[in-house]
Amino acid sequence: MTPTVAPEQRETAARRLPTVPLPLPGEALLSWIDHFGAEYGLRRKDAACALGIPLSGPGATPFIGLRLQDLTFWLTDRAVSRLKESTGLPTDILTGMSLRQFDNGALRFRWWRSLPVEEQRPRGCLNRSENAINRDKIPVCPKCLHENGFRWKLEWYFPWIVLCPDHLCYLVAHCPVCNSSFRPSMGYTPATGLCEGWVGFTGPHAASPSSDRKYLGWPTGGRCPARPAEFPTQPVRDNEMITSQKRIRETILGEDRDAARNLIEDLRSLLPHIFRATEPEHLENSDDAVRRNFLSQRDHLAKKGYYPAKTATPFEPLTMAAGLTVAAPIIWSEDPLSTARSILPPSAWANAIDPAEGHRLGLRQHNRLRPLIRALEGSP
Ligand SMILES: [Zn+2]
Ligand SMILES: [Zn+2]
Repeated sequence: MTPTVAPEQRETAARRLPTVPLPLPGEALLSWIDHFGAEYGLRRKDAACALGIPLSGPGATPFIGLRLQDLTFWLTDRAVSRLKESTGLPTDILTGMSLRQFDNGALRFRWWRSLPVEEQRPRGCLNRSENAINRDKIPVCPKCLHENGFRWKLEWYFPWIVLCPDHLCYLVAHCPVCNSSFRPSMGYTPATGLCEGWVGFTGPHAASPSSDRKYLGWPTGGRCPARPAEFPTQPVRDNEMITSQKRIRETILGEDRDAARNLIEDLRSLLPHIFRATEPEHLENSDDAVRRNFLSQRDHLAKKGYYPAKTATPFEPLTMAAGLTVAAPIIWSEDPLSTARSILPPSAWANAIDPAEGHRLGLRQHNRLRPLIRALEGSP
């Protein structure tokens, strides 16, 4: 007996669109969908339907459990074949817009064994202990946004990428007016060009107005008037930073998956120590913005006992830049241990020891820098 399929569950071929805009090199999938929608005058949800990847409604069955923003993380095989039908774009262009291409390299997706991959939420499969990734909020290059009509890049999801090589400026993680970050999934900023934050609230939670503000009778504010494409930027003049970012970018985004994985494990093992052991003199040749940010983070650490940006997403690019300034020569040294010792005195490392932190990282077992990390932690 042939199983019957309700008409609304039957998968029909996606309708071929007459024209589609090409993605920019390195563009994120959700950004391209928004751009496609803008060309056709469609909202994000309707643009997804037109592209054959409806997330709700009659044709949505193959995509149940997925949200549109999830496809930027893992573009499913079904979505690829539907997008090929609707756009005629080749597979490599489509998959090039998703972080899936970095699986088993710069990223590791961990799927629940009990469910087919297609039905899982890809973001949840980027286990935090193995992956450092800006998830809901990403830093941006305002100049790129300005030039490209608010199309954003896949590489901005990686916290290791801190500058824009085209405009030689540091990426911007927070609105200078309201301190909000850009959240691609919200769709507010691409549609309006405005920051997603709110200003003018007063009361105990003024910095992050919650939905219950209206019940508490606080004076209401309004949307932040700032435009991310016009955010001021900090120039990059530090040549060593430019060189090390080029190397990091080429390794993370490159073809050699082992090299990408090794680099990320090195960075993740070393950076917690670096963040604690860095002194202002290590940043003598750094850009002003990096130094100023480092000093303010240090003040925060002294007062509150933790770095404000350490667990935040997006990770503050200027903070990461300070860490990378110290880490880069160690990671790419022939002899990491003696380079580390020449850069940071043993006393700095002694203060850097934090066994709990070491355990939480859980990377030392298969890490190239294990002897170095052990030495830094003072174990035999
Ligand atoms: Zn740029
Ligand atoms: Zn704002």
